[in-house]
Amino acid sequence: MLKLKPEDIRYLVVHTAAYDGENDNLEDIIRWHKEERGFSTIGYHYYIRKDGTIKKGREEQYVGAHCKASRMNFKSLGICFEGHHDYEEWTEDQKDSFKILCRSLQAKYRISDENIIGHREAYEQDPTPKTCPGKEIDMDEVRRIYPEMDADKVDVEELEEFEGKIDFSKLELTDTL
Ligand SMILES: [Zn+2]
Repeated sequence: MLKLKPEDIRYLVVHTAAYDGENDNLEDIIRWHKEERGFSTIGYHYYIRKDGTIKKGREEQYVGAHCKASRMNFKSLGICFEGHHDYEEWTEDQKDSFKILCRSLQAKYRISDENIIGHREAYEQDPTPKTCPGKEIDMDEVRRIYPEMDADKVDVEELEEFEGKIDFSKLELTDTL
């Protein structure tokens, strides 16, 4: 897998799983990415379940397979939300988890607030060929609400404090990978 240097990571790209079934579908996505699309593992770096659990996907040091537009795979990390967000909003638990994940990654890679984008925003065409991360997700609102922090002003102590808030035991991959 191609490597992603820390200084290359300048964007966070948000996605929807675009699946509105009742059951957890992370394993299905992994299987789909591996078997149908030929990826060596899931194309996203993180996956946020409806219950707020943050699952780690592809390691941050590897180029993802989640957003070809604007060569975004080579300058971003991909975060996918469980659910179909053309029809539903994120759950409160997903919002809480995203806030922590977003702040931590912004601090770690010095990603600016405006570089938190939805998949559809990576396209230059209008209208864009995709609605991802979903019609129910207003990215201007996401950028206004979630970062709550200027990445340039973060100091090391603050960063450690944020990382302390992530439950890394939740970030382990399941055995299916
Ligand atoms: Zn997407």
